[in-house]
Amino acid sequence: MSNEFIPVARPLLGHEEVSAAERAILSGWVTQGPEVAAFEREFAAFVGAPYACAVSSGTTALHLALLAIGLKAGDEVITVSHSYIATANSIRYCGALPVFVDIEPNTFDIDPRRIEPAISKRTRAILCVHQMGMPCDLRAVLEVARRHQIPVVEDAACAVGSEILWQGNWEIIGKPHADVACFSFHPRKLLTTGDGGMLTTSDAEIDRKFRLWRQHAMSTPDTVRHASPTVVFESYPELGFNYRLTDIQAAVGREQLKRIPEAVAQRRRMVAKYNQLLAHPPGLLAPKEPEWARSNWQSYCVRLPRNCDQRQVMQRMLDEGIATRRGIMCTHLEPAYQTPNTWRCADLACQPTGSCPNLSASEHAQAECIILPLFAQMTEAQQMRVAECLRAACVR
Ligand SMILES: *Cc1c(COP(=O)(O)O)cnc(C)c1O
Repeated sequence: MSNEFIPVARPLLGHEEVSAAERAILSGWVTQGPEVAAFEREFAAFVGAPYACAVSSGTTALHLALLAIGLKAGDEVITVSHSYIATANSIRYCGALPVFVDIEPNTFDIDPRRIEPAISKRTRAILCVHQMGMPCDLRAVLEVARRHQIPVVEDAACAVGSEILWQGNWEIIGKPHADVACFSFHPRKLLTTGDGGMLTTSDAEIDRKFRLWRQHAMSTPDTVRHASPTVVFESYPELGFNYRLTDIQAAVGREQLKRIPEAVAQRRRMVAKYNQLLAHPPGLLAPKEPEWARSNWQSYCVRLPRNCDQRQVMQRMLDEGIATRRGIMCTHLEPAYQTPNTWRCADLACQPTGSCPNLSASEHAQAECIILPLFAQMTEAQQMRVAECLRAACVR
């Protein structure tokens, strides 16, 4: 068997993306122009959203989404600690406080039953995450949110092409089913533009704010000025940002979007293979979709058997030339969250530093899970090698 190194992920980029980037570069318009507009139209059509606004990253998408729903300093946002740290960071960028609730151990997504007890007078939003592409229980999240009239933002950074069963039909994540959905185009996600992001909404006013703020809050976009037969003087009515996506990236993104249906179908086949290969080792838990969710399998995350040391297993696999990553990290355990007033949990008596008893499912997931290699170019033989190596690393 080959000992060729197997990375944990690898983007699927080809000559189609190269030609698209070349077209954009030679066009004479290289940032937020016609390619971005076309990418937005095509992305909106793909997810079934009335509006899609491209930005520079998943993180900047989250920041604008929270600002647009009116988040202010001193507000609170209910979210999960068990996510990429950008989720909670985006709340802090607004001067607001993340309120962490625990996850359901099987989906790695927010446990909707934990939301209501975490609501306070300051709760201004819920930021739920479709972790590793697995749709969270949006129906239950929205039920609580609507009852308390709290806006909901979906962190769909990982979830391009994921589907949720909605009133009897399978719908693509990003319609959006809540108020705003935020996507990332980082290379670890299924659709990459190097870096990049997208905001979808069905609210015209919210979309207008995104478009204003992503370009320094310039009153008249440069594309409009460029096309105008009369002289236009722009103004800056508000504080804005430079969160633009370039036309070079958007051109690449349009090609990537075309690949998504097949990329998702292929990952589903590969996950079925992994599930079959990993069915028997004692105590190893493969991820499972709830009946109302179809993941895009952005990551394939398994829970190791008890009495199996995570770091040791990962090291043994790395020694065999197989890269893995530990389970999603808990934000509340990171040094940037060890100072007072950086977060709280539902229990006001709980001291928010270090380990938190209210977030034990999150902490267990970080400590007990590992992410296995999964990428389009991976062969069945490589999957077998990963499964075999994992089995051996667990048993020894
Ligand atoms: C990747 C990711 C982000 C951040 O996206 P960037 O494009 O890297 O800024 C935010 N939230 C989640 C859940 C992610 O996986």
